[in-house]
Amino acid sequence: MKNDISKILVSEAEIQAKVQELGSLISHDYSEKYPIIICILKGAVLFMTDLIMSISIPLEIDFLSLSSYGDSTKSSGVVKIKKDIDSDIQGRHIIIVEDIVDSGLTLKYIQNYFDQHHPASIKVCALLDKPAAHKTDLKIDYIGFEVGNEFVVGYGLDYAQKYRNLPYIGILKEEIYRK
Ligand code: 5GP
Repeated sequence: MKNDISKILVSEAEIQAKVQELGSLISHDYSEKYPIIICILKGAVLFMTDLIMSISIPLEIDFLSLSSYGDSTKSSGVVKIKKDIDSDIQGRHIIIVEDIVDSGLTLKYIQNYFDQHHPASIKVCALLDKPAAHKTDLKIDYIGFEVGNEFVVGYGLDYAQKYRNLPYIGILKEEIYRK
């Protein structure tokens, strides 16, 4: 698995330090707000579980699973909900936890979808952001790391369902997905 990685972009130690930092910020911003942390499956699951353990205030968790159409290394933004959240988010403060924002189209879709259920507020926490790839206006409230336009895997992020269990974020060798 490691042989398929051309470069480690964010090390395990850097990820863990950043998660603690984000957890402290969220604990501060949401004291008394009893937020619902919504994990976008499957990519954000490792980030979300580490993140909630670094948050010191009461919270709830929930999960949303989407399927995306098109090429496996590019999102089309055309998504379908495979598993909806179970919570009633009306009047609640929600934090969407995403693995990576690329074009931003998936996030836009999710925000519009949740908006229809009238939460008190919606904020976004993304482990990784590719600012040069955005195709829509976005506000990401908590960002772990900015990355370039490379295709990355590890710490929850996959290629063809593989590499999620790498403890770091790495660039996948192009020859793996250009095969
Ligand atoms: P967007 O709609 O912002 O273009 O794409 C977001 C989704 O595409 C992410 O949640 C993720 O599933 C996938 N994605 C975008 N860039 C990458 C990447 O570099 N690596 C991996 N593994 N998935 C990515």
